[in-house]
Amino acid sequence: MSFSHLGLRPELVRATAELGFTTPTPIQRDAIPAILRGADVLGSAQTGSGKTAAFALPLLQQMPPGRAGALRQTRALVLVPTRELAAQVGEVIRGLSQFLAQPPKVAVVFGGVSLNPQMMSLRAGADVVVATPGRLLDLVEHNALKLSSVVTLVLDEADRLLDLGFADELDRVLALLPAKRQNLFFSATFPLGVQALAATMLHEPVRIDVTATVADEPAILQRAIEVDAGHRTELLRHLIKTESWERALVFVATQYATEHVAWKLYKNGIFAAPFHGALSQGARKKVLAEFMNDQWDVLVTTDLAARGLDIVELPVVVNYDLPRSADQYVHRIGRTGRAGRSGLAVSFVSAQTQAHWRLIEKRQRLALPREQIAGFEPVEVAPESVADATPGAPPGSGGIKGKRPSKKDKLRAASARNA
Ligand code: AMP
Repeated sequence: MSFSHLGLRPELVRATAELGFTTPTPIQRDAIPAILRGADVLGSAQTGSGKTAAFALPLLQQMPPGRAGALRQTRALVLVPTRELAAQVGEVIRGLSQFLAQPPKVAVVFGGVSLNPQMMSLRAGADVVVATPGRLLDLVEHNALKLSSVVTLVLDEADRLLDLGFADELDRVLALLPAKRQNLFFSATFPLGVQALAATMLHEPVRIDVTATVADEPAILQRAIEVDAGHRTELLRHLIKTESWERALVFVATQYATEHVAWKLYKNGIFAAPFHGALSQGARKKVLAEFMNDQWDVLVTTDLAARGLDIVELPVVVNYDLPRSADQYVHRIGRTGRAGRSGLAVSFVSAQTQAHWRLIEKRQRLALPREQIAGFEPVEVAPESVADATPGAPPGSGGIKGKRPSKKDKLRAASARNA
């Protein structure tokens, strides 16, 4: 099947060819016709599956040609949780519209940078707005744009946008949109609570489920390596060298750890840089561009980079600290093996994180063999009390979400020890 079979305009088909897309990916094959029919869509597909073009192509097809000089009304609103994803989605939409006779005006707006240039960019209106919710609301409050003409709402990384962290902002945005509109929700994961919430917002949605878990994703080789927590940086250096990893994204639990681990690698001759939310927007952009341009071999990051980043040919992802949830594991390892390329995802498992790792494996229906690397065999054993009180809490991660021992748990553990 080719893109022309999906009922897309020749200019859009030409753009897909220009971007090197030869055949539609499964999510594109299923979502594009449904969106063109006008249906609401709830699409769960792995990161890297081509989700962006799956909604961008039909959006562009449905866009009426603009009149030169006329004020543009916002017809499509794409909400995303992070600035990086906003920039990336905007770029894909622009790339796909490059051959249209009258390409729509696409505005990309996000927080952390000054408001004025974004207000200017919206002065003559924009047909498509890609935004993070908070900044979008700021711009509406400044009368920089109106959302009453929106025909299509897209939530990219919908699970995160529907999560509590964004609930208030999302509600306020929704209140500004026309009640009758097309809703397209995409995410790699849809936890049950989020599905229930989405169900209240979608009208008879077409449900598209391309891959349920990463276990189904053959392009990513997953490995679990046992190592003592104190030897992880050394092991990382060893693997980078002996396995000739050209580029790796390394996930740690805290902003401090990104700096600490990156510095330890750098001191030992590995070009590693930290990437985290406390860096200014300019610094984040710079380090990411440098990583993409091969100036850094390793980016050490928090979960900030777990979503949205599309770094083509990112061959290796390392869970130096394990993610707090199984869903987050999917997002993290989805940074590699994108668009059909093969990738490697390595997780370091220490005595303290064994139980937590087992939980991730269970949720992901995985059963990876535990590897040990010569010279780095672990010697530590998890003290029972720790394993009981904090089931597998990764050191420095603050424990499993929702599973931190309460005061009562601690008292119970103490009385059991003293019994
Ligand atoms: P996404 O899931 O939208 O982040 O896309 C992941 C990557 O897949 C991006 O680098 C896209 O350029 C690429 N891509 C999207 N659709 C296709 C396709 N049909 N064929 C090949 N690559 C694609």
